[in-house]
Amino acid sequence: MTSSTDCLFCRIASREIPAKIVHEDDEFVAFEDINPQAPTHILVIPRKHVASLDELAPEDAGIAGRLLVRLATIARDRGLPEPGYRAVINCGEGAGQSVFHIHAHLLGGRRMGWPPG
Ligand code: AMP
Ligand code: ZN
Repeated sequence: MTSSTDCLFCRIASREIPAKIVHEDDEFVAFEDINPQAPTHILVIPRKHVASLDELAPEDAGIAGRLLVRLATIARDRGLPEPGYRAVINCGEGAGQSVFHIHAHLLGGRRMGWPPG
């Protein structure tokens, strides 16, 4: 499995750095965001180190798809589909990406505005 010793999220996935983990399996880890922007704010990451959406390769299609399915399952388990939730993947510094290990934000529990900031 590709991982990077100097990547914060790889180190959370390997439990070297503590986090409030809400789900883990062979392929994904989900944990609470340290600086929540909504009553529910969970990050879902693949164990495989991929820096961003821009680094996804064709062979990552399965991981990318299952990442969203995993996020949707976590959202359903928490009763978020009613009234709704948001899934966000920031790609690149200009879009607000600050940790360069791909992750999907699951945000819920409050009304969301559009367009995003
Ligand atoms: P992004 O800005 O899209 O790259 O998202 C990175 C997210 O990681 C931010 O929402 C941060 O609050 C969150 N974050 C940073 N460090 C940690 C940490 N040690 N544990 C949990 N979440 C973190
Ligand atoms: Zn990483």
